[in-house]
Amino acid sequence: MAAGLLVVLSGPSGVGKGTVCRQLLALRPSLQLSVSLTTRQPRPEETCGRHYEFTTPSRFQKLISGDAFLEWAVVYGHYYGTLKQAVGENLARGTDLLLEIDVQGALQIRRRLKEAVLIFLAPPSMEALKERISGRGTEDAVRIRRRLKAAQQELAAYHLYDYLVVNGRVEDAAASIDAIIEAEKCRISRGARPPASGGEER
Ligand code: 5GP
Repeated sequence: MAAGLLVVLSGPSGVGKGTVCRQLLALRPSLQLSVSLTTRQPRPEETCGRHYEFTTPSRFQKLISGDAFLEWAVVYGHYYGTLKQAVGENLARGTDLLLEIDVQGALQIRRRLKEAVLIFLAPPSMEALKERISGRGTEDAVRIRRRLKAAQQELAAYHLYDYLVVNGRVEDAAASIDAIIEAEKCRISRGARPPASGGEER
């Protein structure tokens, strides 16, 4: 059985990663979204174990000391990380996994798992990104500035990824990512093979 594909999706805050991920999962139900651990507080609509596994800084630090993370990072003052065990088990079972993580985490994955596919989601323009960040209505002016600055730094890292997808229309972005995954799964170097011959001679 071929191992599952590890797909990493990153992009600046406000680019619409969450919406694109949801659309992609609807297009490709066999793809599983990896649930990260975080020390940030849950938002009202979030449930533990589905969006994130919410945990304490002390438990997170213990897991770091125990080398339990495939990758982890501090984002906006909170810890976020992906556990090695869950990823390893899923890939070994042949399940394709989607990690929606920041640039720091994606680069750790690049170093550790060369076969991972790294996709960068970019906004159609900086104006569109500004509008999306300020339009959320959940951020004050200082936070908006902080997120925009972080977004610019994240955008500068796009060349470290394998693919760049522009999120103009959510449906198009999700379809592009779906096509990338399909093509990656057809790679002979990843183990794609014709059916075994039935043993008949020509
Ligand atoms: P939010 O708190 O808005 O859900 O996520 C904030 C940022 O953390 C996003 O850029 C998201 O991609 C990133 N993030 C979420 N989970 C992980 C993770 O497990 N590892 C890393 N490195 N970043 C993550």
